[in-house]
Amino acid sequence: MRYGYGLPPSYTLIIAEKPRAAEKIAKALDPHAVKGRLRGVPYWVIRWNGRPAVVASAAGHLYSLYTDRRGWPVFEYRWVPRYVAEPGSSHTKRFLEALKVLAQRAHTTINACDYDIEGSVIGYLIIKFLLPGRRVFRAKFSSLTRSEILRAFRSLGSLDHEMVEAGLCRHELDWMWGINVSRAISDLMSDALGKKVILSAGRVQSPTLLRAVTRIIERRLFVPLPRFYPRVQVRVGNKLLGLEYDDEPFTSRSSAAEFVKCIREEGYVRVTEVRIEEKRVLPPHPFNLPDLQKEAGQILRFSPYTTQKLAEDLYLEALISYPRTNSQKLPPTLDNRGVLKALSRNPRYRSLIASLLLETRGILRPNNGPSYDPAHPAIYPTGEGSAKRLSKKHLALYDLIVRRYLATFAQPAVLRSVTVYVSACGRRFRISTLRVVREGWYRYYPYHRPREGEGIPQELLKRGAKIPVAKASYSIRYTKPPPPPTRLELLRWMESVGIGTESTRAEIIEVLFRRGYVVARSGRIDVSDLGLAVASLLQEFFPQLVEVELTRRFEEYVEAIRARKLRCREVVEEAKKVISGSLERFRSSYRKALEEVPSFIPVAGAGDRCRLCGRRAVSRSLCRIHLEAYRRVVEAYEEWRRAGFSKEEYLDRIRRLKSVGQYIREVVEALGSEILRELS
Ligand SMILES: [Zn+2]
Repeated sequence: MRYGYGLPPSYTLIIAEKPRAAEKIAKALDPHAVKGRLRGVPYWVIRWNGRPAVVASAAGHLYSLYTDRRGWPVFEYRWVPRYVAEPGSSHTKRFLEALKVLAQRAHTTINACDYDIEGSVIGYLIIKFLLPGRRVFRAKFSSLTRSEILRAFRSLGSLDHEMVEAGLCRHELDWMWGINVSRAISDLMSDALGKKVILSAGRVQSPTLLRAVTRIIERRLFVPLPRFYPRVQVRVGNKLLGLEYDDEPFTSRSSAAEFVKCIREEGYVRVTEVRIEEKRVLPPHPFNLPDLQKEAGQILRFSPYTTQKLAEDLYLEALISYPRTNSQKLPPTLDNRGVLKALSRNPRYRSLIASLLLETRGILRPNNGPSYDPAHPAIYPTGEGSAKRLSKKHLALYDLIVRRYLATFAQPAVLRSVTVYVSACGRRFRISTLRVVREGWYRYYPYHRPREGEGIPQELLKRGAKIPVAKASYSIRYTKPPPPPTRLELLRWMESVGIGTESTRAEIIEVLFRRGYVVARSGRIDVSDLGLAVASLLQEFFPQLVEVELTRRFEEYVEAIRARKLRCREVVEEAKKVISGSLERFRSSYRKALEEVPSFIPVAGAGDRCRLCGRRAVSRSLCRIHLEAYRRVVEAYEEWRRAGFSKEEYLDRIRRLKSVGQYIREVVEALGSEILRELS
C-alpha cells in the first residue's frame, strides 16, 4: 500500500479528539475540505490561511499506562499505545497508524482535542510520541459551531502545560492505586479460593462501591417499627375535609386509641393559625453537567451515563456547547440574542422565544449560578447544527437544554400558599393549598411547576374558629428503610464529597456494573455477592485507601497542579508513600488476611460456617452479618411489645412486611422458633 497519496509535501497537522469533531473543524476552516482515508480512518486536507493543513482524528485516548512487571507493589510504568495495554481497544491501532503516517510531513501541529484535561492529555501524548520537535499550538473552543472554531483558530495559544501535567498526574495516580490494590486483593482471593480470581479496585471506583454497599447493608438489616397516625375529617357546610396530621406519631396502639377517643368526645378542632405566604421562585441556573444529569434523570429517566453520551453527540453535531463542564455561568461575551434568533427558526420554540423577548424587554440576563469551570461556560444551545441524525432521546435532551436556557433569562415565578393549622386534644393538624400567581420561568421550563390545590373554605380561614369533627380514627404505618441508591444519587454523592470529575463520574458508576459488583433492580442499585465481598475486603484490609478523605485530598492536589501550585512529581511521591505503606501492612499480615477471607465470602471447608449463607460463623453458627440481623430482630421487639404486639404477632408481621430487610427476613424465616424462645 502506498501512503501519502493526495497529501501535500508539508503542512500543519490539526488533531481532533474524534472523527466527527475533525470533520466539523475541517469544514469550518475550509468549506472545500477534501476527505481522504488511511487504514479506514478519515482525514481532511484543507487550505487554511492560504496554506495546506491536514485535520486528523484520535479516537479518545490512544495511549495508556503500562508495566511489564508482575506482582505488587509496582511503581514502574510507562506510556504505551493503548491497544498494547488494553485488550478490547484494538480499534485504536488504526487511528494511531494513520496519525503516524500523517505526522511525517507535518512541520507544525495543533492540538484541537476537546478543551479539557483529557483532551489536553490525548493531544499531548500524540504530539510527544509522533511529532517531537514540531511547533505546537492549542486550540481552545467551547462549541463546534463554525464561528467558534474560526475564533479559536484565529487566537491559538501555546500548549497548556498545567492542564497536561494535571491530567497526566491523575492518570498516574489512578494507575498506581488501581493496579496495586487490584492485584493485592486478587491474589488474596485466589489464594483463599484455590483458583485464579481477578478483581478490580479503583481510586474513585472503590470509595463509590463502598458508599453503595453501606447503604444497601443498612437496608438489608432494617427492622420496621410500628407507628400510629390519627385520621380526622371535619365537616364544613355539607362537605367533608380530611386533615393532614402534622405532629409526632404515636408509638403505641393504646395511646393512639385514647387520642381518638378524646377527639370524638371533644367533637371539634380549633383553628390556631392561618399562614398566607407569597414566595418568589428564582429561575434556574444555566446547566452544568451534574445539573443536566440530575434533571434528565428525574424528567426523562436517563441514567447519568446516557445523558453524558447523548450530550456529547449533541456537541459533536454543534447543537450545544461543550457538555463536560462544571460551570453554571453563561459568559458575558455570549451573543444570547443571536442564539435566540437562530433558535426561533425552529417552530417549536418560536412563540416561546417571542414571549421571552417581550417579558424581558430584550434584556437578557441569565441567572448564573455559583459553580465555575476554568475551561468552559455552562451548557447552552448554539442555535446552529443539524438535528437530522438525532434519535428521539437526543431530541428530548436537546429540548431540555433549550428550555433550560430560555428559562434562565425569564422572570421569577410567584407562588401563593395558604396553610391552616388546627389543634385537637393537644396535637397539631393542617390543611394547605398552593396557587401559581405568576407563571414566570415555569412557562419555558415547566418541570418544576407545583401542582395547584383546591381552595380552602372560608370557615377555616379564621383563627380561633371551631370546626366540627365528622370522623376520627387512626391507622398503623411502619417505618421505612432508606431506599436503595440510584445511579443519580451515587453521582450526586461523588460530586458532594468531591471525588472524580464531571467527565469521569458517570463512567465510573458504569464500571461497577460491568464488573458485576452492582446490579440494576427496577431503576435502583443493588449489590451482588461479589461486590459485597470486594467491598468488605477493601474496607478490612485497605481502610486508609478507600477513605473518601484520601481520594478527595488527591483530587485537590490535581487541581493545585492545574493552578501551578504543585508539581506532579511531588504528588506522585506522596501517593507512592501512602500506597506502599498500605501494601506493606497488608503484606505483613497476609497470612491473617487469608484466614479472614471466609468471613466475607463462602469458602468450602472453612471450619464453622453460617447456617444461612456459608460464610464463617462467629457465634450461634451465624456469620457476622446474620448475627447482627439476629441481634436486631431481638432488640426491636421491645418497641413492638410496647406498641401492643405479642411476640407471635411481631414475628408474623416481620415475615409479611415488604420493607423488612433481606438479612432480617432470612434470620426470621430460618430461626423463627429460636427467636421466639429468646423473646420470652
Ligand atoms: Zn450468614
